[in-house]
Amino acid sequence: ENIIEIRGITKHYQVGVQVVKALQGVNVAIKKGEYVAIMGPSGSGKSTLMNVIGALDTPTGGTYVLNGTDVSRMSDDELAEIRNKEIGFVFQTFNLLPRYTALENVMLPLIYAGVSKQGRLKKGNDVIRKVGLQDRSSHKPNELSGGQRQRVAVARALVNNPSIILADEPTGNLDSKTSVDIMRLFGDIHAMGNTIILVTHEEDIAQYAHRIIRLRDGLIESDTINEKVTMSE
Ligand code: ADP
Ligand code: ADP
Repeated sequence: ENIIEIRGITKHYQVGVQVVKALQGVNVAIKKGEYVAIMGPSGSGKSTLMNVIGALDTPTGGTYVLNGTDVSRMSDDELAEIRNKEIGFVFQTFNLLPRYTALENVMLPLIYAGVSKQGRLKKGNDVIRKVGLQDRSSHKPNELSGGQRQRVAVARALVNNPSIILADEPTGNLDSKTSVDIMRLFGDIHAMGNTIILVTHEEDIAQYAHRIIRLRDGLIESDTINEKVTMSE
């Protein structure tokens, strides 16, 4: 069962009189429960592809089917709805609301989804526990370490049971020891059955994924199973 089907995706940007071809015909299918890293040098199209996969932007050409729905030509409003339902985002910069506690940050997507207060507390506490932050749930972001903040962001990404977790350079603001902790957490989240797509330019971070897709000049250069992980399981 493919959660993501991308066929012949192109993305062109008009910059003055010039056209920048950020994606030049990308084909990818990702199954439910896969753990995929998207790699590539700066300018290869990672952010552009992430924006398409995350329903933040539509492609110029080609089709993108997300969990059975063709989202390639949707309006911004339709994309926003799909995003809230299908995708849990984790960013390099955490993107937490500073005035809210860890638990409140985690429960925010449930408010948008119209879940009752009781339901929000139950689900919120549940995912806070999954990321090991039960002792910090009443702390605000500035009372938490970088690694703890990213755990809050991972819990927030999980709280709606999204089809995919999309993580953009999730360890970019963390020291190497904390980065390892967060990548272990992603491993646990994957083991629970979640589909994870990780965008990174760091080779050692990509090595945690089970499949590695490498972009170059807006095209897939390689798409391989990461035997370092899959053989040891
Ligand atoms: P990466 O994330 O791998 O660094 P990007 O997807 O950001 O790559 O960029 C791919 C190419 O598209 C680059 O040449 C970049 O300059 C160009 N690009 C990306 N976004 C825009 C934009 N909004 N307008 C114009 N050009 C863009
Ligand atoms: P990353 O660190 O992910 O590679 P980039 O520096 O490539 O990010 O791009 C950051 C943002 O700036 C992207 O979301 C993209 O939309 C925009 N961008 C990138 N290149 C250009 C460009 N040449 N012209 C306009 N916007 C750009």
